[in-house]
Amino acid sequence: MRDYLGISEIGLCQRRVVYQHDASLEPVIPPEAQRRMDLGHLIETQRRRELRSQGTRVYRPQMEVAFGQARGHIDGFLKGPAGPVLFECKSTSTPSLQKWRRQGLPRSITWQIQGYLEGLSDVLGIKVETCQLDVIDRTSAELHSWTYTVDPAIQQAARERASNLASALTTGALPEPEYEEGSSECRFCPYLATCRPEAVYPEEKGS
Ligand code: SF4
Repeated sequence: MRDYLGISEIGLCQRRVVYQHDASLEPVIPPEAQRRMDLGHLIETQRRRELRSQGTRVYRPQMEVAFGQARGHIDGFLKGPAGPVLFECKSTSTPSLQKWRRQGLPRSITWQIQGYLEGLSDVLGIKVETCQLDVIDRTSAELHSWTYTVDPAIQQAARERASNLASALTTGALPEPEYEEGSSECRFCPYLATCRPEAVYPEEKGS
């Protein structure tokens, strides 16, 4: 269990984040969710390797970056002609990737990126203005790259959210559920059984 608020947690369901920091609760990770996480790590490693083989200088420092009251670890940064570029890599399903391309990235990812941009700038002592986000479709292996730049309004929203979360973690107050039952956030939440004891985990359906 993390003893600090993670930058990657800022955009998650607030109730889930409070559960994640409660040492008395045991997370139940559905096997499908675990496989997706493991696959995500492999894809991220493979993408870094691919970039290096194409001549891109990819750095993966084992350093912690801070953003407001949250901390985290970046996937890496690239050495671009105009200075360092934050590198983030995700993998997702075909429908999600199509939705992201149509409607934009989910809040959890944009907040994470904006937090990392500020945190990496502080660590390197040089303003990091840009992020290259590579998203790989888990079915087709198609790659979609986004370029993100610093957005002060999003950074402010993420900072305020981190502050609210930090307060909730301090007081132990349990926030209201932020997602509807049956949503993908809830179906793959490791605290579904705690939050909604009557719910059925994805791979238990029909068994
Ligand atoms: S089950 Fe849904 S509402 Fe409950 S903590 Fe998890 S994500 Fe939030």
